Parts: sequence; structure tokens; C-alpha cells
Amino acid sequence: MKLIILGAPGSGKGTSATYFREKYNLAHISTGDIFRANIKGGTPLGIEAKTYIDAGKLVPDSVTINMVADRLKEDDCKKGYILDGFPRTIAQAEALDEMLAKNGEAIDAVLSIVVADETIKGRVSGRRVCEKCGESYNVTFRPTKVEGVCDSCGGNVVQRDDDKPETVEARLKTYYANTQPLIDFYDKKGIIIEGDNNNDPAVCREQLEAGLKAKNLI
Ligand code: AMP
Repeated sequence: MKLIILGAPGSGKGTSATYFREKYNLAHISTGDIFRANIKGGTPLGIEAKTYIDAGKLVPDSVTINMVADRLKEDDCKKGYILDGFPRTIAQAEALDEMLAKNGEAIDAVLSIVVADETIKGRVSGRRVCEKCGESYNVTFRPTKVEGVCDSCGGNVVQRDDDKPETVEARLKTYYANTQPLIDFYDKKGIIIEGDNNNDPAVCREQLEAGLKAKNLI
């Protein structure tokens, strides 16, 4: 099964992607995580990506598309995958279609996470992530047991630089300008499944799984 998960920053797409990865044994490909790992490692890709990420802008398509094309060639993708944070532009979506079509493949479904703007701003400002394993927390909704320490691996739990309020505004603008049009792009292919994540993430997951069942994917 090849899935995409789409949603605004702070919609909870990362958390849902983790759920689907574990339950359905999928590779989880988060372009944001790949960029952050490169930034941490000081690689040329990381140095280039950082200037865009810190400004709440998108990393250029050419860089991102090549990075994903390489990642999809790795062995673990054979079992199926969930793309989290990619595609984010129509050009990326078209490039993905081409990559897959070369092997006679296609995306099976796009999980679209729906959340109101006001909810997003509150969630993102409270979000904290583990520097070591990437686990996501929220100071209000899902605090760590010990402040600043990851429950899963004991790593440092911090606020992402791009979760600061000024950058969140810019990221939301970028999302509406570049990524929202993808909903239409995939709706025309009839592969969108919506989940309402304004309240209970469990309800959102149920809606998404019901959509996958209706398409005989699970
Ligand atoms: P995320 O963790 O998915 O919110 O991604 C963090 C940041 O990485 C985004 O705000 C972008 O600057 C950059 N990024 C992640 N995925 C992409 C993508 N598919 N295309 C361009 N930039 C991306």
C-alpha cells in the first residue's frame, strides 16, 4: 500500500503517519525529518535546506524531488510506504506520479487531515519534539513525564526552530499557497480520504481507516 498523508503544519499528520506505519508495517518517509537529520549532520543538503526551513519556506522542488527519488529506491519501501510532508507542490506531485509510473505503480490513497486554523496555531506553539528519536509531544495535550526528557528514549525534548510563532504564520501561508491545491489534484483522481482531526485523533484515524477499507486497501 502506497499512501500520502496531507495536512497543514500542526494538523497531526506526523502522529497519524506513525500510527499507520506501525499498524500496517509501512516505511514512513517524512521529508521534514530527512531535512532535519541533514541539518543536524551538517551535510551540504542540510545547509541548503536550513535557510528555507527557518524562513517557513519550501525547499526547492529540484532538491526535494531528487531526495525522495533516492529514498524510494531503498529496500524498506518495497513493503509499502506512507509519504509524510511530500508532495507539497503540484510539481512534486507530478514528479512523484512519473517516478511511480516508470515501474507501473501509483499512489493508492491520500489521507487528508482536516483541522481549523485556530486549532493549528495553538497546537504548533505547544509542540515539542525529541531531538534524538523525533517523538512528538505537546506541553498542553501530551506533556513528557519529566520536563524536557523524551518518554521513549530519554533524549532532549525541544521546540523546533520553525515552530516559533513568526515562522508558523509563514508556514501556514506557504501551505495554503502551495500545498492546499494538491487536495484538488488528488480529488480528481478519486483517491482522497478525509479525517477530521479537530478533536479526537482516534476518531480521525477511524475515518481514515474506514476510507481505506472502502477502497479494499486494508
Ligand atoms: P515538516 O516537518 O513536514 O513540517 O517540514 C518542515 C519544513 O521542511 C517545511 O516547513 C519545509 O521548509 C521543509 N519541507 C519538508 N518537506 C518539504 C517538501 N516536500 N518540499 C519542500 N520543503 C519541504
